[in-house]
Amino acid sequence: MSNLKFLMPTKITVGENCVKNNFSDLILGKRCMIVTGKTSGKKSGALDDVTDVLRTNGIEYLVYDRIGNNPTIEETAEGGAAARAFGCDFLIGIGGGSPLDACKAIAVYATNIPSENGDFKLYDIYKGVYKNKPLPMAAIPTTAGTGSETTPYSILTLHKEKTKKSFSCPDVFYRVAFLDGRYTVNLPLQIARNTAIDALSHLLEGYTNKKASPLTDYIALEGMRILGKHADILRNGNFTVDICTELLWAACIGGIVISQTGTTIVHSMGYGLTYYRDIPHGMANGFLLGEYLERVRSVAPHRISECEAAMGMSLDKFKIFLSDCLPYNGAFSKDEITEWAKTSIKARNVASCPFDVDYDTELEIYENCLL
Ligand code: NAP
Ligand code: ZN
Repeated sequence: MSNLKFLMPTKITVGENCVKNNFSDLILGKRCMIVTGKTSGKKSGALDDVTDVLRTNGIEYLVYDRIGNNPTIEETAEGGAAARAFGCDFLIGIGGGSPLDACKAIAVYATNIPSENGDFKLYDIYKGVYKNKPLPMAAIPTTAGTGSETTPYSILTLHKEKTKKSFSCPDVFYRVAFLDGRYTVNLPLQIARNTAIDALSHLLEGYTNKKASPLTDYIALEGMRILGKHADILRNGNFTVDICTELLWAACIGGIVISQTGTTIVHSMGYGLTYYRDIPHGMANGFLLGEYLERVRSVAPHRISECEAAMGMSLDKFKIFLSDCLPYNGAFSKDEITEWAKTSIKARNVASCPFDVDYDTELEIYENCLL
């Protein structure tokens, strides 16, 4: 219990119609830019709820709906320029992890102008320390997975290094997050599964992490319990608004866990699959998770038993659940996984794994999971 720290500054509001019922929490300034994906804001119904609140309260707003999946650094810098041009003093992020992460980078670039010759350059966002405070933000997730609404991380595609890379800064925690199952109840089933498995991945990687604490353990097991309870629904797709709100809550507390512990190699190894093969983030994690947990079992069997008890299934059953939920017909080659391992072994979260990891370990995990 030495060096225990726990920071969670986001106010979390949960339940049906929580945006309208708590509208004053949404209004963090006088002029707002809404950052969202191309379709998710509209399809989820969240954008309509937000614009109704803003209009009723006389807040001018701009809908910036240009965020693609796995947003790039460049895309978010453009968003920062749009926020400055519009003169907004707060942001609302609506969407899956892509728009929610992009919103954090836009908040930084809106107040810190990147320039080639100035003292803040485009890639300096990765330093995590900024001269000017990022804009304040509210989050409305429309997928139940990343927990971005409660993390200080933003994961951006970095073509320069041919991977995805996160920056972290306590100033990009969202001020407030609204979790309403109405916004995820119509998610296409495969997206619901991929994102739920991302949430499980956060909970399991947080629980098995070297940086875990008694408090993160307690929260992680609660998240696993909720997701385990809804495993059959994730297989079959019979979602209700109430179940979706529970899944959003589980994903949100997964964010709280990794805010304290960080992730492990499951995440950094997954980035190769997403960057080179366009495999959705949660699915990429799911391909690697079973093998990772087997290796944890060899060094800490009791930790795996606790996860099995919380999820209500053995590790073997969990692996079947993963393969049922993640159908994939592609094939991988030895050459590509060799390249991915060269990049992923450099990630910071390698050091957080409960077992020793070197390049050969990662290559072997890729081989066992993908070839
Ligand atoms: P996503 O990339 O945000 O969205 C995936 C797809 O789902 C998009 O096509 C999106 O449409 C669609 N979608 C979202 N909500 C919808 C809704 N309610 N109805 C219909 N379609 C909807 O997926 P994600 O898995 O949530 O986020 C993944 C990103 O989060 C990755 O970049 C990953 O690295 C990052 N991540 C961040 C953290 C963190 O701590 N910050 C943790 C884990 C992962 P649109 O294109 O229209 O939006
Ligand atoms: Zn993730």
